[in-house]
Amino acid sequence: MQVANKSAVSIHYTLTNSAGVQLDSSIGSQPLEYLHGENTIIPGLEQALTGKKVGDKFNVTIEAANAYGTYQSSMVQIVPRQMFEGVEKLEVGMMFHADVSHGTGMVTITHIDGDNITVDGNHPLAGEDLTFAVEIMGVRPATADELAHGHIHGEGCHH
Ligand code: ZN
Repeated sequence: MQVANKSAVSIHYTLTNSAGVQLDSSIGSQPLEYLHGENTIIPGLEQALTGKKVGDKFNVTIEAANAYGTYQSSMVQIVPRQMFEGVEKLEVGMMFHADVSHGTGMVTITHIDGDNITVDGNHPLAGEDLTFAVEIMGVRPATADELAHGHIHGEGCHH
């Protein structure tokens, strides 16, 4: 069968950025299994997978806007150190769950200037064009349970 909405799809993938640096890969571990059509993977990749079948291999380059989004400078802001009450030592690169001005998400500390802490709410891969090398390992209809939950139930995972 072909990859379509409501398919449970498993893929092996290797992700590289536009400089050719490998960022992630499933090779050597379990394939990624996901429920197609539920926005559980980035939109550009889901689009590229539609209609593919087991054994298909392809490379696809996805522009930032269809991957983790373009870089939004409005998601960078300076907040007072007091917002991190309870954290012993703040360092550049630390990530926090935050409820800043754009809803709840992850922010990364990118600069520290005394009590002024710069946080960036962009996804670490925002603004990056990404290339995926993909091989389709399996396609099956999702079960009723999986469809109700909006995700795949892998081995040993029933909830
Ligand atoms: Zn579930």
